[in-house]
Amino acid sequence: MKAMANIEEKSSQMPEFVPQVVPAAGQQRNLHRSMREDGICVLTFDRPGSMANIFDHATLEELQQELDFISNAPDIKGLILISAKPTIFIAGADLRRMTGSTPLAEIRELLTFGQAQIHRLTQLPIPTVAAIHGVAVGGGYEIALACDYRLAASDSVTKIGLPETNIGLLPAWGGATRLPRLIGLPKALDFILAGKTVSARGALKLGLVDELVPAERLIRAAVQKTSQGKPHRPSHLMVNNPLAVAVITSSLRRKLLRKTRGHYPAVLKAFEVMTRGITKAVPASLTLEREGILELVQTDACRNLIRTFFLQERAKKIVVEAPAPRLEPKPVTHTAVIGAGIMGAGIAQWLSARGLPVILRDINIEQVGKGMAGIARLYQDGVQRHIFTQREARDGFDRIYPAPMEVPLHHVDLVIEAAVENLDLKKKIFQRLDELSGEETILATNTSALPISELASSTRHPERVLGLHFFNPVHRMQLVEVIAARETAPDALSRAVRFVQKIGKLPVVVKDRPGFLVNRILMPYLIEAGNLFEHGAGLEHLDEAMLDFGMPMGPMRLLDEVGLDVALHVAQTLSLPFAGRLQIPSTLSQMSRAGLLGRKSGQGFYLYDQSKKTRPNPQALGYVQSRTAGNLTPEDLQERMYFLMLNEAARCLDEQVVGAPEDIDFAMIMGAGFAPFRGGPLRYADSLGAKKIVGAMQILADGGATQYAPYPLLQCMAADGTKFYPNP
Ligand code: NAD
Repeated sequence: MKAMANIEEKSSQMPEFVPQVVPAAGQQRNLHRSMREDGICVLTFDRPGSMANIFDHATLEELQQELDFISNAPDIKGLILISAKPTIFIAGADLRRMTGSTPLAEIRELLTFGQAQIHRLTQLPIPTVAAIHGVAVGGGYEIALACDYRLAASDSVTKIGLPETNIGLLPAWGGATRLPRLIGLPKALDFILAGKTVSARGALKLGLVDELVPAERLIRAAVQKTSQGKPHRPSHLMVNNPLAVAVITSSLRRKLLRKTRGHYPAVLKAFEVMTRGITKAVPASLTLEREGILELVQTDACRNLIRTFFLQERAKKIVVEAPAPRLEPKPVTHTAVIGAGIMGAGIAQWLSARGLPVILRDINIEQVGKGMAGIARLYQDGVQRHIFTQREARDGFDRIYPAPMEVPLHHVDLVIEAAVENLDLKKKIFQRLDELSGEETILATNTSALPISELASSTRHPERVLGLHFFNPVHRMQLVEVIAARETAPDALSRAVRFVQKIGKLPVVVKDRPGFLVNRILMPYLIEAGNLFEHGAGLEHLDEAMLDFGMPMGPMRLLDEVGLDVALHVAQTLSLPFAGRLQIPSTLSQMSRAGLLGRKSGQGFYLYDQSKKTRPNPQALGYVQSRTAGNLTPEDLQERMYFLMLNEAARCLDEQVVGAPEDIDFAMIMGAGFAPFRGGPLRYADSLGAKKIVGAMQILADGGATQYAPYPLLQCMAADGTKFYPNP
């Protein structure tokens, strides 16, 4: 009932332009046809009981019926496709049908049927217009590509994308065939291989749509378009021109191989389909798309990437139930951020861009100025990348109230503390926040590793204190760890999770244990990289080995990015509770003392200068103490680093730091970039088998490296052959 009420509430906010089509009694159709007096037919996508339209078999069958009808109705003068949903045009194919459990023949049938129906649109003798309002991704944009014209609403909910390669697939309902013909092969390759989704303005600039119009004028503009008749679009120079294609693509394949390190077959397959397909007739290119995707769905990379997609969807929907939930938990509408440094400014910008007023408080007036200047840059950058209009950027910026002095916080629903990482200082801040804020204000900290309970103990109401751990940079990283201390009230936790979802981030609920989840699993890995360096493993060998493994950045470079002093501080905080598991290399403290802090000081393991080119820092090599790790192969180095992540992940699961193995895999992929195509540390452990991991770790531990002692849970799993995911 509640879900229905929600949908009705949202539906009542639908823009006026949506024609109200009443389905026949008892009919639950996804597609509704209405005829206008001027002879234009409007097909409205409106999946019953859902906020989104998707392309499943039923919808495609309805499309087939409608196209049958339209083909046989000589009076129809034009066709317009629109959506009745407030924020979604069509969100693509039903991905549940693309997973490993679906028989290959069924996937083939769905692809062939979808391609055929969408292709029929291109064969209609009447002008066709896709009137896009909301998100049009994957199949949702591919159907628009088959129309004669594409109009998009100019508002910020409208987004156009072909993100298939991100989930191990390729656009196979005509996207890989029609986009190169529309905007040219080079631009289409860039768009599809990177799995991009862009704003309406970005789409116009790239030629993905013909025009932008205000949402309320979309239908009128679409009708006008039909009056222009069928367009004549000249073929792109490269269509049917193998020589031109060969020139453009010869070096690109090598570049792609280097970039993906062979881990993302979808990128290479999309490249192959597009470069071969453009020299063929459309039906032959569609066949290439189909065959390509049928190969891809059988790869582990595709399975793991689709699974990660579903884990993201799961995070958007998780609900923390409070034992006696109120009818409607108090929403967060007013916020304050304490500390205007890197994180505070980043958080304030993100919240203000989501329409929330934010007080940004710092004790240092200069820092307030610096923070606001950083926020202005983020907004300006967003304008350049078509994420915001100038007006949206200005309004967002104006929602931030810079506060170099203390201000009352009674009306504030949520305070996020992001001051310097110092327990005593943070305790004092929380004590004061407790006095300044209202009874229902949630007090959150962005601490990386300090115990939430300890901070809560300095307030009179520890039940409203929790952790909201954002990752750096805030505007790029989607994950937020929502940390529940022993005393945190379920109501506060539930509100915090909702808040994270509302601001468009992905929550993972974590217990208040040292290092929480992501840093806890990442730290042993980073520290071990430091140890291996100290014992003679080459700086770039270490980074290359883990890039080859699939991490987005090598560990030594990551240490430089985090800051050696910060990494040392977190490692020291964890080394007490993790006695024996974190052997902190003396290099870290020595380099920190010498001011070699990483990127922020211009030098760390690497040297950084204005040109953004980096090179190894010869001074760092002076801290190498032995050569015992000097001859390890890249595979040895990889194992030594990722074993420690798998071991700690198993420990976190056993200690119930989170509720399920999926939480760990999801958080490590989203928060630490753990090779997404491997499916996360626990999924990867399953694919290696606990026996192999434990055997190799035990040899290292027996050799004196005690940090490798395999965790008992892994040992048990090795003995009885069980897995983290019994049903893969
Ligand atoms: P930062 O040093 O850039 O900024 C801290 C700010 O806090 C400074 O501007 C300082 O003037 C201000 N401050 C100090 N005492 C204050 C007080 N009493 N009241 C108000 N402001 C005060 O630090 P940061 O990197 O933004 O980190 C902030 C917090 O976020 C830390 O707890 C850190 O552990 C955590 N964190 C950092 C990162 C990261 O990558 N930098 C990532 C996740 C979490």
